[in-house]
Parts: sequence; C-alpha cells; structure tokens
Amino acid sequence: MKEKKDCKIVQDLLPNYIEKLTNEETNKYVEDHLKECEKCTKVLKNMQKDLELQTPQADKREVKYIKKFSKKMRILKLIIAIIALSFVAITGIKVAIISDLSNKAEKSIVSDNYKRTIYGLRKDDFVKWDIYNLGDKKKMVMTTVKDNNTQVRKIFATKEKDGEDMEYNINTYEETGNEKTAKLNTKAQISVDPYNTLQTENWWQLIIVSMKASIKPVTFDGQPCYYIANFEPSMVDGIYINKETGLLVGVTEQEPETTLYVYEFNTVTEKDFVEPDISEYKIEE
Ligand SMILES: [Zn+2]
Repeated sequence: MKEKKDCKIVQDLLPNYIEKLTNEETNKYVEDHLKECEKCTKVLKNMQKDLELQTPQADKREVKYIKKFSKKMRILKLIIAIIALSFVAITGIKVAIISDLSNKAEKSIVSDNYKRTIYGLRKDDFVKWDIYNLGDKKKMVMTTVKDNNTQVRKIFATKEKDGEDMEYNINTYEETGNEKTAKLNTKAQISVDPYNTLQTENWWQLIIVSMKASIKPVTFDGQPCYYIANFEPSMVDGIYINKETGLLVGVTEQEPETTLYVYEFNTVTEKDFVEPDISEYKIEE
C-alpha cells in the first residue's frame, strides 16, 4: 500500500524530474524509489523516450526553418550585392566612355581651320549650314529649301574684338529666288564653333550624368559612333558622338527630325572667304 502511494507521488514528480526542475531532496527521493520500483522505472523510460521523440523533431523543424530563412536572406543579400555591383560597374563603364569621348572632343575642337556642315532634315523643309573657320574669319552659308523655294544666306564675319566683348564685323548676302540683298558692316557676337557636347562641370556631375545616360555603340552616317540617350545637359532625345573625334555628329529630336554634323579639318583656305560681287546686290541699311 505504501509502495503504491509512493508510486503515485513519484510518477507525479517524474515530468519535473526529467526537466530537472526538482530539488536535490526530491531527486534523492525519486531516485531511491526508482532503484526499488521497476514499474516507475518503466514509466520514466517511456517518458524519456517520448521526449526524445518529440523535442528533437520540433527543434529540427525550427532549426530547418531558421536555416531556410537565413539561406533566403543570404540569397537576397547576394542579389542586392550583385545588383549594386553591376550598377557601379555599368556606371563606371559609362563614366569611362563619356570622359574618354569628352577628352577626344577637347583635342578635336582646338583647330581654328575647320569646316562644319550641319544638315537639318525635317518633315517640311531642309536646312544646311556650311560653317568655315580660318583664324579670325568665319563664313556661314545657310541654305533653306522650303516648298521648292531655295533661300541662300551667306554671312562673312571677321573678328574685331576678342575676349569678353568679342565682336565680329558681319557682311550678309541673301538670295531668295531672283532677289539679291546685302547688309554690310553690322556688329555681333558669333558662336558657331564645334564644341564638346559631353562636357561636364566636375567629376560628380559626370557621375550623375553617366548614371542616367544610356550608351550604345552604333554606326551613324557611316561612322562608328556611340548613341547616347538621356544625356541630361542636352535637351534632345539622343546624340550621336563619333568614337574617334568625340564630336557630335547627329542629333535625334522628335522623329523623323534629325540633325547631322559633318566636320573637315585643315581644308579651309583664303579662297573660301572671297565675298560675292556687291554690284549684283541691293544694299539694305
Ligand atoms: Zn513505484
């Protein structure tokens, strides 16, 4: 009878005993009883077996979940790192291309002997500008064709003042149909030199501009070029830059409007600046 009562108490204590929540005195009491009671020893063993079966599995599941989660986190971090790295790498490539073209352009534009022709190809009209430069002299010939009428305007400009208040003396000759008019000795500033389209003010502007720009190698007007879209400082849709000279060779605005730029260096001579026979022109004041 005493044994039976002990058994009940011991079995009540066993769960706590297994979890090591019982005090030393209780432990001793349980262990003394177990030494002599096969039944309770069996119950203890069954409980331990049950625990072994349950706990590790739950743990394993948790561990598996944590592992899976951290694996996902690792993959996510890796993807973010790859995206960030490619962004940096692509921006780096774009910075390199733009600064290289910009350097080439700076070298190309120093010449004071050049001819630049600009073709504006538009839906309803055609405009062609021939710009000649030799030292302090410039000649601009603008040919406009609209509704089968051709208008030619020739502007001869000679630099008279340099620097801040740069000034040119200008003679203009205009031919529209049979009408020929001329305007002589007007003064103005002129800015028609080829320029570095890809110029940026400083290195961080270069980086920002490069991030936004999209660049692809193309052939334009028979020349190896880069087509650069979203180049912030320019207001047009896209620009074509010659790979060798770094110079602007084409502009796309709203299709089908295109502007073409053609350059010749060291081909201009004094002959190009011989003005037309003024007696054929009606002089305007
Ligand atoms: Zn017992």
